[in-house]
Amino acid sequence: MTHVIEALDWLIEYWPDLLEARLPMSTPRPWRTPELSPEAREERDYEARLERFERTALGLAESPAPVDINVLQTALDVLVRADDLAAELGEWSIEPSPLPPELGELDARPWFRYTRAVLINEHVDLGEPGPWHDHATPIVHGMYEQVAQALAMLYTGQVVRVICPWCDGRTITQPAGGAYTWKIHELPGGQIAIVCHGLCEPPEREVGTWWRGIPCWPISDWERLAKRVRANEAHETIGI
Ligand SMILES: [Zn+2]
Repeated sequence: MTHVIEALDWLIEYWPDLLEARLPMSTPRPWRTPELSPEAREERDYEARLERFERTALGLAESPAPVDINVLQTALDVLVRADDLAAELGEWSIEPSPLPPELGELDARPWFRYTRAVLINEHVDLGEPGPWHDHATPIVHGMYEQVAQALAMLYTGQVVRVICPWCDGRTITQPAGGAYTWKIHELPGGQIAIVCHGLCEPPEREVGTWWRGIPCWPISDWERLAKRVRANEAHETIGI
């Protein structure tokens, strides 16, 4: 498994989240449902009021929220890049690439899956990553960064409604545990991570990275993190 395959797996996994975030009535999967902090909610309400005011005062037409436009733009950009890459690979592969997306199509996963399959076949045939792997790597990482950035824009500052499996939600103000201590942050360098603000000391091998002595997990670790949370919830009954 090379990094480019991992990045494609990540894109396939998170693509629906990007699209769901675009829809006002979307219901993201439970563990990822971030809860707005009071400050974030206040800010959102303020923006909504401001927007309403501008619309009525300036007579502007009804328009979707700016964040929706950004997400939609990202989805379309990445879709075009995914299709271009698949078409390039398709010229050389015996397996034909999927047809270009139709107008209104937003699901880029068939093109991600195709690229993934071609790169794996190339690896198997040559016994090592080949020229298509090298060609695809920067393109796939570019798509990964674009999607991660868009998801970060949606989620930064939000609380993840999950009890941390390592500190059980223990904080200074809530020493008995049960608090939601995970928050999504943008770390220096633009990396997006879940940061635990509890009295948290996970074993070294379970920590993605550290930030000012606080354990955090970059977005690329979230699948592993979700599995850990689910495993913890499975053999623990929290009585409230
Ligand atoms: Zn914790």
